[in-house]
Amino acid sequence: MKRLWLIPLLFAPGPRGAPAQDLASFVNRELPGLVGTYKDIHAHPELSHREARTSALLAGELRQAGYAVTERVGKYPDGAQAYGLVAILENGTGPRLLIRADMDALPIVEETGLSYASQVKTRNPDGQEVGVMHACGHDVHVSVMIGTARALAALKSQWRGTLMLVGQPSEETIDGAKAMLADNLYGRFGTPDFAIALHDTNLQPAGMVSFTAGNAMASSTSVDVTMRGVGSHGSRPQEGKDPVVMAAEFIVQLQTIVSRQENALDPAVVTVGDIHGGTKRNIIPDEVKMELTARAFSDAARQIILDGIRRTAQGVALAAGVPEDRAPVVNVLENESTPVLYNDPALNARLKAALAEALGPQNAVDEAPLMGSEDFGIFGLDGHKIPVVMFRLGAMDPAKFAAARAQGKWLPGPHSSRFEPLPEPTLRTGVTALASAAMALLHR
Ligand SMILES: [Zn+2]
Ligand SMILES: [Zn+2]
Repeated sequence: MKRLWLIPLLFAPGPRGAPAQDLASFVNRELPGLVGTYKDIHAHPELSHREARTSALLAGELRQAGYAVTERVGKYPDGAQAYGLVAILENGTGPRLLIRADMDALPIVEETGLSYASQVKTRNPDGQEVGVMHACGHDVHVSVMIGTARALAALKSQWRGTLMLVGQPSEETIDGAKAMLADNLYGRFGTPDFAIALHDTNLQPAGMVSFTAGNAMASSTSVDVTMRGVGSHGSRPQEGKDPVVMAAEFIVQLQTIVSRQENALDPAVVTVGDIHGGTKRNIIPDEVKMELTARAFSDAARQIILDGIRRTAQGVALAAGVPEDRAPVVNVLENESTPVLYNDPALNARLKAALAEALGPQNAVDEAPLMGSEDFGIFGLDGHKIPVVMFRLGAMDPAKFAAARAQGKWLPGPHSSRFEPLPEPTLRTGVTALASAAMALLHR
């Protein structure tokens, strides 16, 4: 890829006509507008694979801030073009830093009661009408990226190198990062020296950020299991093989994989989140379908779970006397699976030190790993070739947070219909943190 070498000019006006100024006063000035942008994005959430409006809004803002923007970056396995975007700002010799914000929302009816709450409804791929809500706070991430992009463009004299901002689609379906890499992201836009991102959290109040070195979020593997039986009248089970009973046995047996077969020092979770079978109380159905998620931090634990799921399904069917041609079907959905998010310990330490300086040491703390999953680690490539770090951005009203914790409770978190980031302090801290992190890595 051809690189443009820009010579920083003294007293050059920023892309918005602003003279260079320090980050805090820049953020103060930008904040009211940014809160308005946040509320607009919050009120217009879009499901994974459909981020047309959000990506266009982000592209427009980044262009206006002086970045070279490419839209529709990303290819899904079915050949569809994704709504990913890449925005480049070159500023002399120095490292190339990838900053990622994910853009998609969730099929949830919002119940926050906020004046800017989402009223959006859409049809999901099955044709059902669903509410849509930014229940994971990706609207916070997009807004923070806009503020950070403006700040770094205005403060160009304080850093050098190349910024590569990535607006990522389809994080919730964990196929967006893969789609962008499959569209030759690094071949077209350069391979970054580091990749960073933030994610909002209900585990910290607004004003704080938190860090996890090493394994930070678990791998996620999606598995479909179909227990097949032989249907019959509900009053004459002896003439069939009941897949409902087999599914029940399978689910209970599954609980022994983590508790009895897996190393207790290597955390793992297996959950059946969806189960469907049957049509009527007095009919034994032909099959029961289940959707599972497996979480793990090591390949060994992941493999033990997958082997255990297969063995348990087969064992239950065998015990029930199911004929061989009705054996259970176990399907691992590789495209709906994602590896561990591993925060490079050296980069993590560097960022934590930079943010302790920017926000005060009491506001940059360590946090335990989560069993949740994220596809951001995919930007680090196999074998952690590129160091990546995702840190967490406290998003809760500090007074409400303290009141909840005093009762031993947490405020509703990501994926809750009542997840409610407090816009102003969250965005202020987000932009300050992300811009400070970038400047620490691209220092002069
Ligand atoms: Zn999420
Ligand atoms: Zn998220």
